[in-house]
Amino acid sequence: MTMAAEEVTGRRRGHPLLQGRRRERYTHGLHPAQMDALRAMCGALIPSLLPVVDRLHGGADDDHDGRGDQQMAGASKDDLERFYLASAAGGTIPHEVAELVTRCVWEAVVLVKIVLWILTTKVGTFALCGRLCVTSKFPYVCKFADMPVERREEVLKRWNRARWPLKITFVVIKILCHYAFYTMVNENSEKPCWKAIGYNIPELDEPRGGGTTEARPSSPRPLDAGVVETRGLNDTTLLRSLEDKGVAVTTQQDDTWSAHHHTVRCDAVIVGSGCGGGVAAAVLSAAGHKVIVVEKGDYFTAADYTSIEGPSMDRLYEKGGIFCSTNVTTALFAGTTVGGGSAVNWSASIRTPETVTREWAVEHGLPVFASPEYARAMDAVCARLAVTDGCREEGFQNKIIRRGCEALGLKADAVPRNSSEAHFCGSCHLGCPTGDKRGTDTTWLADSVSRGVVILTGCKAERVVLESCKPGRNGRRKKCVGLLATCSGDGGITKKLIRIEAKVSIAACGALMTPPLLRNSGLKNRHIGRNLHLHPVSMAWGYFPPENKLMIAGKCYEGGIITSMHRVTDRTIVETPALGPGCFASLVPWESGRDMKDRMRRYARTAHAFALVRDRGAGQVDGEGRVRYTPSKDDVHELRDGLRRTLRILVAAGATEVGTHRSDGLRLRCNGSELLSTRLLAQKLTPMVLRWWRHTYLGSGVRGCTLGRMSVRSGVPT
Ligand SMILES: Cc1cc2nc3c(=O)[nH]c(=O)nc-3n(C[C@H](O)[C@H](O)[C@H](O)COP(=O)(O)OP(=O)(O)OC[C@H]3O[C@@H](n4cnc5c(N)ncnc54)[C@H](O)[C@@H]3O)c2cc1C
Repeated sequence: MTMAAEEVTGRRRGHPLLQGRRRERYTHGLHPAQMDALRAMCGALIPSLLPVVDRLHGGADDDHDGRGDQQMAGASKDDLERFYLASAAGGTIPHEVAELVTRCVWEAVVLVKIVLWILTTKVGTFALCGRLCVTSKFPYVCKFADMPVERREEVLKRWNRARWPLKITFVVIKILCHYAFYTMVNENSEKPCWKAIGYNIPELDEPRGGGTTEARPSSPRPLDAGVVETRGLNDTTLLRSLEDKGVAVTTQQDDTWSAHHHTVRCDAVIVGSGCGGGVAAAVLSAAGHKVIVVEKGDYFTAADYTSIEGPSMDRLYEKGGIFCSTNVTTALFAGTTVGGGSAVNWSASIRTPETVTREWAVEHGLPVFASPEYARAMDAVCARLAVTDGCREEGFQNKIIRRGCEALGLKADAVPRNSSEAHFCGSCHLGCPTGDKRGTDTTWLADSVSRGVVILTGCKAERVVLESCKPGRNGRRKKCVGLLATCSGDGGITKKLIRIEAKVSIAACGALMTPPLLRNSGLKNRHIGRNLHLHPVSMAWGYFPPENKLMIAGKCYEGGIITSMHRVTDRTIVETPALGPGCFASLVPWESGRDMKDRMRRYARTAHAFALVRDRGAGQVDGEGRVRYTPSKDDVHELRDGLRRTLRILVAAGATEVGTHRSDGLRLRCNGSELLSTRLLAQKLTPMVLRWWRHTYLGSGVRGCTLGRMSVRSGVPT
């Protein structure tokens, strides 16, 4: 970024784009009457509640000792009172929710708009809410926005139990409302309710950018020698910047079609700077080729990252982190910044197991994966990323996995990471603020720019350019001669397209974005976008009260994200996620406004762990932001078994309450070991992993999809 990042000074640190400035205007287009209905929904989901004074003093917590929660959070009575009194109906939160709704799949947007519209009328409210909107005063029926908050809450509870379409409306608004409420920060990049839930932005013990020589804030940024940041550049300044980097540009001055482009020539153009694109740029440039990388995201470094969940998700993730399958059951995550997924992933750097490489070679006819070359390539990647499985100190959630496994006599393995042994950062998923995690942005791309590679950021490849040619030996009549890209996205002011002509064009935009690029280019192969494999994930949680002295110390968001794992089967593992307050609140079940606030108050001491499955079933990418995905029956079985094992591990580690993300909030109070070996536990846990349609999955690690006849896998071993 051209704007200099601030050093760690007080609260306002990092890059302005990652600090969470107020939006200047809203573009959601909802009518004021629809906004009233939405505000009323937000107010019922997160209502203003009179704090139960006894609870704040630890006397009347219906499930646990509230005093412990308060001490753990370091929150004063005032903090807790303010938290319970805060409502999502206030301020700009409903507008933020409306804005987030527009990022969902269009079917969900239309559905939500229609439901809100119906709720603006009395008849419509009666149709959707029934007798709950009937009053004793003339005209005896009121609109949703005029209903008392308790009745609105009752309506939402019913919708939560309903099926399509009210269930979907409920799920969308519930997720987005909680996400907006817990991630929106004030002008000091703070959120008053964080104190009450025991959260604060982790202070940095490790120096910013201190982990790698490449990322020291005082030195030039690792990619400065090659990066051209197109945000804010106009056509003239863009040309000048490209020429400064040694790229010759031609622009036609007549009125032919080519006058609408700046034309640039190179040996190879690569779309995407993630795991695949970054390594390809380094390898090709090392072989002496002139390479240009086109990346639609922005360039940030360790000194820029703020670890503030809302703005960081917004800038670093595809669709600002609000990306789900078209059936709204699976949340998808993909990085979109320089470094791609490697800049935000959870650092687990597991070599492709031999069983998998053999399967690719034998069953999919790709012998290269079983060859020594592939093993050598893996060695080279691990060496450059300095992958280590040492970890000096584990965080709260990983300690729990380890303790639970030990208690059950199960094996917990160390997980290799691309960061140092001392790395204790829980916010690598929002860009590692210490600079210790080695993504492509600090390694392979840094090597590339030192060899003359140019990286265009804020530059989106729209289509590859195909030209007719004489049919060759392979019978193809068209060849790819480069691509067309725009720099006029968010903040860009260039008017012309960039045409990059190259002998070789590489699409490395990840499994979700590569198929749309190929289809937009006119390619018709019916296999494009098919066989999408995700790593479906289903989560369980366990609450560990802080007052028990034998209990593991720490908070759920502290420490390396994945340092321990348990292997359930060849296809299923148990690991731990990174969940900031926003993601946590959107995922955990909502039973009522008060219950949700009680759950959030226990945020810091609620550990999550997930079962992750190497899926047999497959989904399909239909277009940009349109992904069809439903786990197959076999995968659901694996997920259930994995989830059951995850719950047992949490119980064995000493959780006093466990649950899944089943939307009705079913949970089990437990007392550690007494339940471990009994059938009772199995009986009690089983309902939590059943009734599958009520669960939400995460597809966090996109594994690959078909791009024609060959199935490609992501650059990072999965
Ligand atoms: C939150 C999260 C956690 C993860 N944790 C792990 C982990 O612990 N271990 C692990 O092995 N894997 C993990 N993964 C998965 C891993 O990061 C991905 O498999 C890997 O990044 C895929 O590499 P890629 O090169 O295919 O695509 P990406 O790394 O996603 O890179 C694609 C790049 O292309 C850019 N792009 C897309 N379309 C265009 C376009 N039209 N024009 C220009 N640029 C474009 C994107 O902005 C992006 O930067 C995680 C992923 C996520 C999202």
